[in-house]
Amino acid sequence: HAKSLGRSRYHIFDTDFRYEQIIRFDLELELNNCLEKDELQLVYQPIYSVKQQKVITVEALLRWYKDHSQIVSPVEFIPVAEETRLIIPIGEWVIRQACRDLPQLQQKYGQSIRVAVNISRIQLDEPDFIERLNQIVQEEGISARYIDLEITESVATSNTVEEQSSLVKLREQGYTISLDDFGTGYSSLSMLTRLPIDTIKIDRSFVTQMNPPVLKALITMAEALDLNVVAEGIEDQEQCQHLLKLGYTEFQGYWFSYPLAVSQLPALSNLPYAPTDRN
Ligand code: C2E
Ligand code: MG
Ligand code: MG
Ligand code: MG
Repeated sequence: HAKSLGRSRYHIFDTDFRYEQIIRFDLELELNNCLEKDELQLVYQPIYSVKQQKVITVEALLRWYKDHSQIVSPVEFIPVAEETRLIIPIGEWVIRQACRDLPQLQQKYGQSIRVAVNISRIQLDEPDFIERLNQIVQEEGISARYIDLEITESVATSNTVEEQSSLVKLREQGYTISLDDFGTGYSSLSMLTRLPIDTIKIDRSFVTQMNPPVLKALITMAEALDLNVVAEGIEDQEQCQHLLKLGYTEFQGYWFSYPLAVSQLPALSNLPYAPTDRN
């Protein structure tokens, strides 16, 4: 009995595995045409500074409407795009589209806001990445200082000489660098002091766990290193109040705004802690 059970389990696993492979293959094929078929869209999510009482940055997040209907999460298709290197043309599309949307975002939140774009390691490792980025940004008539590049901790801490010098060069050209999902990777404190970055984005998992000593230590460290700090994934007022008490002032999360099409984004006055709340 045990033997047949074992075998049937194995069989189920095997079938599942093949099924996943087929789905994956299908995804790859369809992703190939997403640009020509005009299936990509950017949504935006504000990062709000309670201290400055304004939206300081708006992050661009990619959406894929497969066959113009079924939405595929970036968590699913970005890894496929990276493996197939399709992330290179897709990433360039993202940068260009973010530049094109910037004027509308500035109209909504003020001239000084920046647009943040997620950059994967495959893109950063391309020898002509900076050249291509500059070219797109110039073609679209945008200044580099309005563009923030979000890279994940693993990229920043990999410490290859090329990647480190890319980051230095990017900052020299006026781009700012944010370290995304901070705390989920393996950066040591000494690495952080050497990294050419402007901002760390504290991963949502820290906000969910809400461990005050850890959160306090993180903000203290960031301030000592003269880094901006954004807390990601704020879902309610209680989380926000806790973080404010601990010294956090820059927030992003569903409680402020879901990621939305530019035209759907809330006006500044409709965000929590907005200037109109004052008196
Ligand atoms: P990320 O850059 O860390 O983006 C934050 C993710 O958390 C987004 O998921 C966002 O919708 C979600 N989020 C924001 N606020 C909250 C909240 O309050 N609660 C919860 N539960 N989630 C929240 P999304 O849009 O599905 O993107 C997932 C990841 O895909 C991004 O993580 C980023 O790593 C990657 N990604 C998205 N767009 C791009 C892109 O254009 N290029 C690259 N290379 N990666 C991208
Ligand atoms: Mg990000
Ligand atoms: Mg993030
Ligand atoms: Mg994240």
